[in-house]
Amino acid sequence: MLEHLTEQPADKILMLMQAYKSDPRTDKIDLGVGVYKDPKGVTPVMRAVKAAEQKIWETQESKSYTSLAGEPMYIEGMIKLVLNGAVARERISGVTTPGGTGAIRQAFELIKKATPQATVWVSNPTWPNHLSILKYLDMRHTAYTYFDTATRDVDFDGMMADLANVKAGDVVLLHGCCHNPTGANLTLEQWKEVVALLKAKGAVPMIDIAYQGFGDGLDADAQATRLVAAGVDECIIAASCSKNFGIYRERTGALMTIARDEAQAKLAQGMLQFLNRQNFSFPPDHGARIVATILNDDALRADWEAELEEVRNTMLGLRTQLANELRRLTNTDRFDFIAKHRGMFSQIGTTPEKVEQMRADSGIYMVSDSRMNIAGLNVETVPLLAEAIVKAGV
Ligand code: PMP
Repeated sequence: MLEHLTEQPADKILMLMQAYKSDPRTDKIDLGVGVYKDPKGVTPVMRAVKAAEQKIWETQESKSYTSLAGEPMYIEGMIKLVLNGAVARERISGVTTPGGTGAIRQAFELIKKATPQATVWVSNPTWPNHLSILKYLDMRHTAYTYFDTATRDVDFDGMMADLANVKAGDVVLLHGCCHNPTGANLTLEQWKEVVALLKAKGAVPMIDIAYQGFGDGLDADAQATRLVAAGVDECIIAASCSKNFGIYRERTGALMTIARDEAQAKLAQGMLQFLNRQNFSFPPDHGARIVATILNDDALRADWEAELEEVRNTMLGLRTQLANELRRLTNTDRFDFIAKHRGMFSQIGTTPEKVEQMRADSGIYMVSDSRMNIAGLNVETVPLLAEAIVKAGV
């Protein structure tokens, strides 16, 4: 049987991690995988997470099964965190999923069940897993223009021109904040135009929100999602707690849908639970319980928000430092976009050859599409990166 399997392509980012590990240079810089690192290069367990785990350890009396949707306090907490009342509760359905990836995978499965003919539109570029899951599920998909490699900003005219071809019932996948891989995001005014277009076309927005709190703040980062959710009849939201709670390996996500009315929301809730049941039955509980514990305890929540702000401001500080350094070295404002981008990533918009040159000459490891993880830097390494960028003639 197993001889019939075909070899699967290796994951580019995991290969990069491996290459970094085996590089003997001591001044190498890892800007690859999307994990937050503090200035010492550590991905810490957040203080509130530790405290919540202790509280759970002390009070939990059973590890029996929960429900197919997962812990209700977690779902309610996530609906509030992401949507904060933007939509009437009875129109919203939600389940716990294994990470944001689990939510995305099941969102696609839900679309396939409901409207198998629909095309899913994804930004060019997008998080590669979007494409690989769509391909794996054999779903129709196409790309819309998103990034302008000259300005390194959103090519909004190009995006709107492409989305003008969306058909009724098609699904348009949007990054709620902190676009991965580019770091370039729509303004709220532009989001409003997108909402109006999707509504006019009868298309369904699907929002992937994996970095809430990493861009402009917890509420600011959810504003676009709330605007979309409030402005359309139907919407799908895939949320991840991996980054903003720093619980990557706990696999904690949520899949939510917004329906036209309560009756359709009930139908959707049943389908979301059915999908959990088919894929893994009960969703992972530990991470969801940590999140629920933090969101429902004023002191833990305040401490989590404070630490998340530290994380966000550390990344913003590195962005400003890098943009300033490049301004100084090049005597131009060509790299000011780095300070304007938001989230963990910026795509500097150069060729795979130059990315390779920076790796070979300066020990800089970034993804071949020139995406760099800002959190892989610290105040000492920013000048080294700036020099490498200039030396490679980016
Ligand atoms: N969406 C995007 C855009 C992401 O970057 C990620 C994480 N890399 C995810 C979803 C899913 O993250 P996870 O499954 O680890 O929660």
